[in-house]
Amino acid sequence: MVVLEAETAGFGASGRNGGWCSALFPASLPTLAGLPGSSRSAAMAQHQAMRATVDEVLAVAAKEGIDARAHKGGTVAVARTPSQWRRAQQEVEAARAWGRGEDDLCLLDAGQARARLQATDVLGGTFTPDCAAIHPSRLVRGLARVVEAHGGRIFEQTRVREVQPGRAGTDDGTVRAEVVLRATEGYTPGLDSMRRDVVPVYSLVVATEPLPETTWERIGLSDRETFTDHRNLIIYGQRTADGRLVFGGRGAPYHFGSSVKPGYDREEKVFAMLRATLRELFPVLGGARFSHAWGGALGVPRDWVASVGLDRASGLGWAGGYVGDGVGTTNLAGRTLRDLVLGRDTELTRLPWVGHRSRRWEPEPLRWLGVNAGLKAMTFADAEERLTGRPSLVARAMAPLVGGHLTG
Ligand SMILES: Cc1cc2nc3c(=O)[nH]c(=O)nc-3n(C[C@H](O)[C@H](O)[C@H](O)COP(=O)(O)OP(=O)(O)OC[C@H]3O[C@@H](n4cnc5c(N)ncnc54)[C@H](O)[C@@H]3O)c2cc1C
Repeated sequence: MVVLEAETAGFGASGRNGGWCSALFPASLPTLAGLPGSSRSAAMAQHQAMRATVDEVLAVAAKEGIDARAHKGGTVAVARTPSQWRRAQQEVEAARAWGRGEDDLCLLDAGQARARLQATDVLGGTFTPDCAAIHPSRLVRGLARVVEAHGGRIFEQTRVREVQPGRAGTDDGTVRAEVVLRATEGYTPGLDSMRRDVVPVYSLVVATEPLPETTWERIGLSDRETFTDHRNLIIYGQRTADGRLVFGGRGAPYHFGSSVKPGYDREEKVFAMLRATLRELFPVLGGARFSHAWGGALGVPRDWVASVGLDRASGLGWAGGYVGDGVGTTNLAGRTLRDLVLGRDTELTRLPWVGHRSRRWEPEPLRWLGVNAGLKAMTFADAEERLTGRPSLVARAMAPLVGGHLTG
Protein backbone atom coordinates (compact mmCIF):
# COMPACT_ATOMS: atom_id res chain seq x y z
CA MET A 1 0.00 0.00 0.00
CA VAL A 2 1.31 3.39 -1.02
CA VAL A 3 0.07 6.79 0.19
CA LEU A 4 0.73 9.76 -2.07
CA GLU A 5 0.65 13.04 -0.12
CA ALA A 6 1.18 16.46 -1.72
CA GLU A 7 2.62 17.99 1.47
CA THR A 8 3.28 16.07 4.71
CA ALA A 9 1.02 13.45 6.27
CA GLY A 10 -1.42 15.41 8.44
CA PHE A 11 -1.05 18.66 6.49
CA GLY A 12 -4.79 18.75 5.72
CA ALA A 13 -7.78 19.14 8.03
CA SER A 14 -6.84 15.96 9.92
CA GLY A 15 -3.81 17.68 11.45
CA ARG A 16 -5.51 20.93 12.36
CA ASN A 17 -9.13 20.34 13.32
CA GLY A 18 -10.94 21.21 16.54
CA GLY A 19 -10.27 17.77 18.01
CA TRP A 20 -13.81 16.48 18.40
CA CYS A 21 -13.75 12.76 17.70
CA SER A 22 -17.54 12.51 17.67
CA ALA A 23 -20.33 10.27 16.42
CA LEU A 24 -21.76 13.18 14.41
CA PHE A 25 -22.49 12.59 10.74
CA PRO A 26 -23.16 15.58 8.48
CA ALA A 27 -26.43 14.22 7.02
CA SER A 28 -29.45 13.80 9.30
CA LEU A 29 -31.08 10.42 10.00
CA PRO A 30 -34.13 11.24 7.80
CA THR A 31 -31.77 12.16 4.93
CA LEU A 32 -29.84 8.89 5.35
CA ALA A 33 -33.06 6.88 5.52
CA GLY A 34 -34.28 8.56 2.34
CA LEU A 35 -31.27 7.57 0.20
CA PRO A 36 -32.04 5.06 -2.57
CA GLY A 37 -32.13 1.53 -1.14
CA SER A 38 -31.88 2.85 2.43
CA SER A 39 -34.36 2.61 5.30
CA ARG A 40 -34.88 3.74 8.87
CA SER A 41 -32.97 0.76 10.19
CA ALA A 42 -30.09 1.35 7.74
CA ALA A 43 -29.88 4.98 8.88
CA MET A 44 -29.80 3.83 12.51
CA ALA A 45 -27.10 1.28 11.66
CA GLN A 46 -25.00 4.15 10.31
CA HIS A 47 -25.59 6.11 13.52
CA GLN A 48 -24.61 3.11 15.67
CA ALA A 49 -21.51 2.55 13.55
CA MET A 50 -20.51 6.17 14.13
CA ARG A 51 -21.00 5.76 17.89
CA ALA A 52 -18.83 2.64 17.91
CA THR A 53 -16.21 4.45 15.82
CA VAL A 54 -15.41 6.86 18.66
CA ASP A 55 -14.36 3.88 20.80
CA GLU A 56 -12.56 2.30 17.85
CA VAL A 57 -10.35 5.39 17.37
CA LEU A 58 -9.49 5.41 21.07
CA ALA A 59 -8.80 1.66 21.09
CA VAL A 60 -6.46 1.91 18.08
CA ALA A 61 -4.61 4.85 19.64
CA ALA A 62 -4.18 2.89 22.89
CA LYS A 63 -3.14 -0.34 21.16
CA GLU A 64 -0.63 1.36 18.87
CA GLY A 65 0.81 3.62 21.56
CA ILE A 66 -0.36 6.88 19.95
CA ASP A 67 -0.45 9.58 22.60
CA ALA A 68 -3.30 11.61 21.08
CA ARG A 69 -4.09 13.21 24.46
CA ALA A 70 -7.53 11.68 24.02
CA HIS A 71 -10.28 11.60 26.59
CA LYS A 72 -13.89 10.60 26.06
CA GLY A 73 -15.89 13.10 28.11
CA GLY A 74 -18.82 13.57 25.69
CA THR A 75 -20.20 16.83 24.32
CA VAL A 76 -22.20 19.45 26.15
CA ALA A 77 -24.19 21.84 23.95
CA VAL A 78 -25.66 24.69 25.96
CA ALA A 79 -28.73 26.73 25.03
CA ARG A 80 -28.24 30.45 25.70
CA THR A 81 -31.35 32.04 24.18
CA PRO A 82 -35.00 30.92 24.12
CA SER A 83 -34.59 29.95 20.44
CA GLN A 84 -31.55 27.84 21.23
CA TRP A 85 -33.43 26.18 24.09
CA ARG A 86 -36.29 25.33 21.73
CA ARG A 87 -33.80 23.84 19.27
CA ALA A 88 -32.23 21.76 22.06
CA GLN A 89 -35.63 20.39 23.05
CA GLN A 90 -36.54 19.64 19.44
CA GLU A 91 -33.25 17.82 18.90
CA VAL A 92 -33.94 15.53 21.86
CA GLU A 93 -37.56 14.96 20.77
CA ALA A 94 -36.34 14.02 17.28
CA ALA A 95 -33.78 11.65 18.79
CA ARG A 96 -36.49 9.91 20.81
CA ALA A 97 -38.65 9.53 17.68
CA TRP A 98 -35.74 7.53 16.26
CA GLY A 99 -35.52 5.35 19.34
CA ARG A 100 -32.37 7.05 20.57
CA GLY A 101 -32.40 6.90 24.37
CA GLU A 102 -30.96 8.91 27.25
CA ASP A 103 -27.65 7.05 26.92
CA ASP A 104 -27.30 8.59 23.43
CA LEU A 105 -28.59 12.16 23.84
CA CYS A 106 -30.22 13.78 26.85
CA LEU A 107 -31.72 17.13 27.69
CA LEU A 108 -30.11 19.12 30.51
CA ASP A 109 -31.91 21.70 32.64
CA ALA A 110 -30.05 24.92 33.43
CA GLY A 111 -28.44 23.51 36.59
CA GLN A 112 -27.30 20.30 34.89
CA ALA A 113 -25.91 22.21 31.93
CA ARG A 114 -24.07 24.69 34.17
CA ALA A 115 -22.62 21.82 36.20
CA ARG A 116 -20.74 20.88 33.03
CA LEU A 117 -20.15 24.29 31.45
CA GLN A 118 -20.41 27.61 33.26
CA ALA A 119 -20.96 29.77 30.21
CA THR A 120 -23.03 32.97 30.42
CA ASP A 121 -26.83 32.93 29.99
CA VAL A 122 -27.22 29.13 30.15
CA LEU A 123 -30.90 28.12 30.04
CA GLY A 124 -30.30 24.40 29.54
CA GLY A 125 -28.65 22.19 26.99
CA THR A 126 -28.04 18.72 25.63
CA PHE A 127 -25.39 16.11 26.39
CA THR A 128 -24.09 13.11 24.50
CA PRO A 129 -21.37 10.80 25.81
CA ASP A 130 -20.25 9.99 22.24
CA CYS A 131 -17.29 12.29 21.79
CA ALA A 132 -13.62 12.27 22.74
CA ALA A 133 -11.40 15.33 22.80
CA ILE A 134 -8.20 14.58 20.89
CA HIS A 135 -5.03 16.38 19.79
CA PRO A 136 -5.46 16.20 16.01
CA SER A 137 -1.88 16.33 14.80
CA ARG A 138 -0.70 13.87 17.44
CA LEU A 139 -3.39 11.45 16.25
CA VAL A 140 -2.71 11.81 12.53
CA ARG A 141 1.09 11.74 12.80
CA GLY A 142 0.79 8.73 15.10
CA LEU A 143 -1.43 6.95 12.57
CA ALA A 144 1.07 7.71 9.79
CA ARG A 145 3.82 6.05 11.85
CA VAL A 146 1.60 3.01 12.38
CA VAL A 147 0.88 2.74 8.65
CA GLU A 148 4.63 2.67 7.98
CA ALA A 149 5.26 0.19 10.80
CA HIS A 150 2.74 -2.14 9.13
CA GLY A 151 4.56 -1.95 5.82
CA GLY A 152 2.65 0.88 4.13
CA ARG A 153 4.79 3.46 2.31
CA ILE A 154 4.03 7.17 2.51
CA PHE A 155 5.45 9.42 -0.20
CA GLU A 156 5.29 13.02 1.00
CA GLN A 157 5.80 16.07 -1.28
CA THR A 158 4.19 13.97 -4.01
CA ARG A 159 1.22 15.70 -5.61
CA VAL A 160 -1.14 13.57 -7.68
CA ARG A 161 -2.01 15.39 -10.91
CA GLU A 162 -4.46 12.89 -12.34
CA VAL A 163 -6.25 9.76 -11.26
CA GLN A 164 -7.07 7.14 -13.88
CA PRO A 165 -8.15 3.50 -13.59
CA GLY A 166 -5.05 1.59 -12.53
CA ARG A 167 -2.78 4.60 -12.05
CA ALA A 168 -2.11 7.88 -10.27
CA GLY A 169 0.09 10.33 -12.13
CA THR A 170 2.54 12.58 -10.24
CA ASP A 171 5.25 14.99 -11.44
CA ASP A 172 7.87 12.40 -10.50
CA GLY A 173 6.26 9.41 -12.15
CA THR A 174 3.20 7.21 -12.28
CA VAL A 175 2.10 4.76 -9.61
CA ARG A 176 0.28 1.74 -10.98
CA ALA A 177 -2.14 -0.19 -8.80
CA GLU A 178 -5.22 -2.34 -9.18
CA VAL A 179 -7.12 -0.01 -6.85
CA VAL A 180 -6.69 3.77 -6.54
CA LEU A 181 -8.49 5.50 -3.64
CA ARG A 182 -8.98 9.27 -3.54
CA ALA A 183 -9.11 10.95 -0.11
CA THR A 184 -8.39 14.60 -0.92
CA GLU A 185 -11.41 16.19 0.88
CA GLY A 186 -11.28 20.02 0.82
CA TYR A 187 -8.50 19.90 -1.80
CA THR A 188 -10.52 17.78 -4.25
CA PRO A 189 -11.43 20.73 -6.55
CA GLY A 190 -7.69 20.96 -7.33
CA LEU A 191 -8.04 17.78 -9.40
CA ASP A 192 -9.14 18.67 -12.92
CA SER A 193 -12.11 16.37 -13.33
CA MET A 194 -13.43 17.02 -9.80
CA ARG A 195 -13.70 20.81 -9.61
CA ARG A 196 -17.36 20.71 -8.55
CA ASP A 197 -17.42 17.56 -6.39
CA VAL A 198 -17.13 19.34 -3.01
CA VAL A 199 -16.71 22.97 -1.98
CA PRO A 200 -13.86 23.84 0.35
CA VAL A 201 -15.27 25.76 3.32
CA TYR A 202 -12.88 27.29 5.82
CA SER A 203 -13.09 26.74 9.54
CA LEU A 204 -10.83 28.76 11.85
CA VAL A 205 -9.57 28.07 15.36
CA VAL A 206 -7.92 29.97 18.25
CA ALA A 207 -6.25 28.61 21.40
CA THR A 208 -5.44 30.20 24.75
CA GLU A 209 -2.31 29.68 26.76
CA PRO A 210 -2.75 27.03 29.50
CA LEU A 211 -5.26 28.47 31.98
CA PRO A 212 -4.79 28.28 35.76
CA GLU A 213 -6.86 25.76 37.74
CA THR A 214 -8.75 28.65 39.42
CA THR A 215 -10.04 29.72 35.98
CA TRP A 216 -11.01 26.16 35.08
CA GLU A 217 -13.01 25.91 38.31
CA ARG A 218 -15.15 28.77 36.97
CA ILE A 219 -15.49 27.32 33.45
CA GLY A 220 -16.11 23.65 34.18
CA LEU A 221 -15.48 20.91 31.59
CA SER A 222 -14.04 18.86 34.44
CA ASP A 223 -14.40 15.70 32.34
CA ARG A 224 -12.87 17.42 29.27
CA GLU A 225 -16.28 17.50 27.57
CA THR A 226 -16.15 19.10 24.14
CA PHE A 227 -18.58 22.02 23.99
CA THR A 228 -20.75 24.16 21.75
CA ASP A 229 -24.05 25.99 21.93
CA HIS A 230 -27.23 25.70 19.89
CA ARG A 231 -26.64 28.78 17.68
CA ASN A 232 -26.97 28.56 13.89
CA LEU A 233 -23.38 29.35 12.86
CA ILE A 234 -21.28 26.47 14.17
CA ILE A 235 -18.88 26.99 17.08
CA TYR A 236 -16.90 24.21 18.78
CA GLY A 237 -14.45 24.00 21.64
CA GLN A 238 -12.45 21.72 23.84
CA ARG A 239 -10.34 21.77 27.02
CA THR A 240 -6.97 20.39 26.01
CA ALA A 241 -4.92 17.98 28.09
CA ASP A 242 -2.53 20.84 28.89
CA GLY A 243 -5.32 23.13 30.07
CA ARG A 244 -5.93 25.37 27.07
CA LEU A 245 -9.24 26.39 25.59
CA VAL A 246 -9.28 25.58 21.89
CA PHE A 247 -12.19 27.22 20.13
CA GLY A 248 -13.26 27.31 16.49
CA GLY A 249 -16.00 28.35 14.16
CA ARG A 250 -17.11 29.25 10.66
CA GLY A 251 -17.48 32.69 9.17
CA ALA A 252 -14.49 32.84 6.83
CA PRO A 253 -15.53 33.41 3.20
CA TYR A 254 -15.70 30.83 0.45
CA HIS A 255 -13.23 31.75 -2.32
CA PHE A 256 -14.25 32.01 -5.97
CA GLY A 257 -13.58 28.89 -8.07
CA SER A 258 -13.22 26.71 -4.91
CA SER A 259 -9.71 28.06 -4.55
CA VAL A 260 -7.66 26.79 -1.58
CA LYS A 261 -4.54 28.72 -0.53
CA PRO A 262 -2.47 28.79 2.67
CA GLY A 263 -3.26 32.52 3.05
CA TYR A 264 -6.97 31.74 3.42
CA ASP A 265 -6.22 29.86 6.67
CA ARG A 266 -5.79 33.18 8.44
CA GLU A 267 -8.63 35.71 8.56
CA GLU A 268 -7.83 38.23 11.29
CA LYS A 269 -11.48 39.35 11.46
CA VAL A 270 -12.65 35.79 12.15
CA PHE A 271 -9.90 35.17 14.74
CA ALA A 272 -10.96 38.40 16.53
CA MET A 273 -14.61 37.29 16.38
CA LEU A 274 -13.70 33.89 17.88
CA ARG A 275 -11.69 35.48 20.71
CA ALA A 276 -14.56 37.90 21.44
CA THR A 277 -17.14 35.08 21.40
CA LEU A 278 -15.05 33.04 23.82
CA ARG A 279 -14.71 36.01 26.19
CA GLU A 280 -18.47 36.58 25.96
CA LEU A 281 -19.08 32.90 26.85
CA PHE A 282 -16.52 32.98 29.70
CA PRO A 283 -15.93 36.50 31.10
CA VAL A 284 -13.59 34.85 33.63
CA LEU A 285 -11.04 34.69 30.77
CA GLY A 286 -10.48 38.42 31.27
CA GLY A 287 -7.05 39.20 29.89
CA ALA A 288 -6.01 35.57 29.28
CA ARG A 289 -3.57 35.41 26.38
CA PHE A 290 -4.28 33.61 23.13
CA SER A 291 -1.20 31.78 21.92
CA HIS A 292 -2.33 30.16 18.65
CA ALA A 293 -4.64 30.76 15.69
CA TRP A 294 -5.02 28.63 12.57
CA GLY A 295 -7.51 27.38 10.03
CA GLY A 296 -8.12 24.96 7.22
CA ALA A 297 -10.44 23.77 4.51
CA LEU A 298 -13.05 21.07 4.96
CA GLY A 299 -15.09 19.47 2.16
CA VAL A 300 -18.82 20.02 1.70
CA PRO A 301 -20.72 17.89 -0.84
CA ARG A 302 -23.78 19.43 -2.54
CA ASP A 303 -26.25 17.31 -0.52
CA TRP A 304 -24.14 17.20 2.69
CA VAL A 305 -24.02 13.40 2.56
CA ALA A 306 -20.50 12.09 3.18
CA SER A 307 -19.78 8.97 1.18
CA VAL A 308 -17.33 6.17 0.59
CA GLY A 309 -17.21 3.73 -2.30
CA LEU A 310 -15.29 1.63 -4.76
CA ASP A 311 -16.15 1.03 -8.38
CA ARG A 312 -15.02 -2.56 -8.93
CA ALA A 313 -14.89 -2.23 -12.70
CA SER A 314 -12.48 0.74 -12.79
CA GLY A 315 -10.75 0.09 -9.45
CA LEU A 316 -11.38 3.73 -8.49
CA GLY A 317 -12.58 4.45 -4.97
CA TRP A 318 -13.17 7.49 -2.80
CA ALA A 319 -13.97 8.69 0.70
CA GLY A 320 -14.99 12.16 1.81
CA GLY A 321 -17.53 14.96 2.05
CA TYR A 322 -17.44 14.85 5.85
CA VAL A 323 -18.17 18.60 6.20
CA GLY A 324 -17.02 19.27 9.78
CA ASP A 325 -17.38 15.75 11.13
CA GLY A 326 -14.39 13.93 9.70
CA VAL A 327 -12.29 12.87 12.68
CA GLY A 328 -14.37 9.80 13.49
CA THR A 329 -15.91 9.41 10.05
CA THR A 330 -12.53 9.01 8.30
CA ASN A 331 -11.90 5.99 10.52
CA LEU A 332 -15.22 4.43 9.54
CA ALA A 333 -14.42 5.25 5.90
CA GLY A 334 -11.02 3.57 6.18
CA ARG A 335 -12.42 0.36 7.59
CA THR A 336 -15.20 0.37 5.01
CA LEU A 337 -12.73 0.83 2.14
CA ARG A 338 -10.67 -2.04 3.52
CA ASP A 339 -13.69 -4.33 3.28
CA LEU A 340 -14.60 -3.04 -0.19
CA VAL A 341 -11.07 -3.50 -1.52
CA LEU A 342 -10.88 -7.03 -0.08
CA GLY A 343 -14.25 -7.82 -1.63
CA ARG A 344 -15.89 -8.58 1.71
CA ASP A 345 -19.61 -8.21 2.25
CA THR A 346 -19.84 -6.88 5.82
CA GLU A 347 -22.11 -4.76 8.02
CA LEU A 348 -19.90 -1.81 7.11
CA THR A 349 -20.22 -2.24 3.35
CA ARG A 350 -24.03 -2.31 3.70
CA LEU A 351 -24.28 1.11 5.42
CA PRO A 352 -26.34 3.66 3.45
CA TRP A 353 -23.46 6.07 2.71
CA VAL A 354 -21.55 3.36 0.82
CA GLY A 355 -21.63 4.02 -2.91
CA HIS A 356 -23.67 7.22 -2.55
CA ARG A 357 -22.89 9.86 -5.20
CA SER A 358 -23.66 13.48 -4.36
CA ARG A 359 -24.65 15.66 -7.28
CA ARG A 360 -22.10 18.24 -8.35
CA TRP A 361 -22.07 21.87 -7.19
CA GLU A 362 -23.27 24.62 -9.54
CA PRO A 363 -20.75 26.31 -11.86
CA GLU A 364 -19.39 29.72 -10.87
CA PRO A 365 -20.49 32.40 -10.17
CA LEU A 366 -23.60 30.66 -8.80
CA ARG A 367 -21.52 28.55 -6.42
CA TRP A 368 -19.74 31.59 -4.99
CA LEU A 369 -23.02 33.48 -4.54
CA GLY A 370 -24.86 30.53 -2.98
CA VAL A 371 -22.18 29.38 -0.54
CA ASN A 372 -21.32 32.88 0.71
CA ALA A 373 -25.02 33.77 1.02
CA GLY A 374 -25.49 30.63 3.15
CA LEU A 375 -22.57 31.51 5.43
CA LYS A 376 -23.77 35.11 5.84
CA ALA A 377 -27.36 33.98 6.47
CA MET A 378 -26.31 31.87 9.47
CA THR A 379 -24.49 34.83 11.07
CA PHE A 380 -27.50 37.01 10.36
CA ALA A 381 -29.87 34.39 11.81
CA ASP A 382 -28.06 34.42 15.16
CA ALA A 383 -28.19 38.22 15.33
CA GLU A 384 -31.90 38.10 14.43
CA GLU A 385 -32.59 35.60 17.23
CA ARG A 386 -30.70 37.70 19.79
CA LEU A 387 -32.78 40.72 18.78
CA THR A 388 -36.22 39.14 18.51
CA GLY A 389 -35.92 36.25 20.99
CA ARG A 390 -37.69 34.08 18.39
CA PRO A 391 -36.37 31.33 16.08
CA SER A 392 -34.88 32.93 12.99
CA LEU A 393 -36.96 32.96 9.82
CA VAL A 394 -33.72 33.13 7.81
CA ALA A 395 -32.38 29.99 9.51
CA ARG A 396 -35.63 28.15 8.84
CA ALA A 397 -35.55 29.13 5.18
CA MET A 398 -31.92 28.01 4.85
CA ALA A 399 -32.27 24.74 6.81
CA PRO A 400 -32.95 22.49 3.81
CA LEU A 401 -29.84 23.88 2.12
CA VAL A 402 -27.40 23.43 4.98
CA GLY A 403 -28.24 19.87 6.00
CA GLY A 404 -27.79 18.41 9.45
CA HIS A 405 -25.50 19.12 12.35
CA LEU A 406 -21.79 19.55 11.90
CA THR A 407 -18.75 20.34 13.95
CA GLY A 408 -15.66 21.87 12.31
C1 LIG B 1 -10.34 23.98 11.29
C2 LIG B 1 -11.08 22.68 11.19
C3 LIG B 1 -11.71 22.17 12.31
C4 LIG B 1 -12.36 20.93 12.23
N1 LIG B 1 -12.87 20.38 13.39
C5 LIG B 1 -13.37 19.12 13.38
C6 LIG B 1 -13.72 18.48 14.58
O1 LIG B 1 -13.55 19.03 15.69
N2 LIG B 1 -14.26 17.23 14.50
C7 LIG B 1 -14.43 16.58 13.31
O2 LIG B 1 -14.91 15.46 13.28
N3 LIG B 1 -14.03 17.16 12.13
C8 LIG B 1 -13.50 18.41 12.16
N4 LIG B 1 -13.07 18.97 10.99
C9 LIG B 1 -13.17 18.20 9.75
C10 LIG B 1 -12.11 17.10 9.70
O3 LIG B 1 -10.88 17.60 10.15
C11 LIG B 1 -11.99 16.57 8.27
O4 LIG B 1 -13.26 16.18 7.81
C12 LIG B 1 -11.06 15.37 8.15
O5 LIG B 1 -9.85 15.63 8.82
C13 LIG B 1 -10.83 15.03 6.68
O6 LIG B 1 -9.82 14.04 6.60
P1 LIG B 1 -9.25 13.62 5.19
O7 LIG B 1 -8.12 12.72 5.47
O8 LIG B 1 -10.35 13.16 4.32
O9 LIG B 1 -8.74 14.99 4.53
P2 LIG B 1 -7.49 15.89 4.95
O10 LIG B 1 -7.10 15.66 6.36
O11 LIG B 1 -7.81 17.29 4.50
O12 LIG B 1 -6.33 15.30 4.07
C14 LIG B 1 -6.29 15.42 2.68
C15 LIG B 1 -4.82 15.32 2.31
O13 LIG B 1 -4.73 15.19 0.89
C16 LIG B 1 -3.59 15.90 0.48
N5 LIG B 1 -3.80 16.22 -0.94
C17 LIG B 1 -4.68 17.07 -1.48
N6 LIG B 1 -4.61 17.07 -2.81
C18 LIG B 1 -3.64 16.16 -3.14
C19 LIG B 1 -3.10 15.70 -4.36
N7 LIG B 1 -3.52 16.18 -5.53
N8 LIG B 1 -2.13 14.75 -4.33
C20 LIG B 1 -1.68 14.26 -3.15
N9 LIG B 1 -2.16 14.67 -1.95
C21 LIG B 1 -3.13 15.61 -1.95
C22 LIG B 1 -3.55 17.14 1.36
O14 LIG B 1 -2.25 17.69 1.42
C23 LIG B 1 -4.02 16.56 2.69
O15 LIG B 1 -2.96 16.21 3.54
C24 LIG B 1 -12.43 20.23 11.01
C25 LIG B 1 -11.82 20.75 9.86
C26 LIG B 1 -11.14 21.97 9.95
C27 LIG B 1 -10.46 22.52 8.72
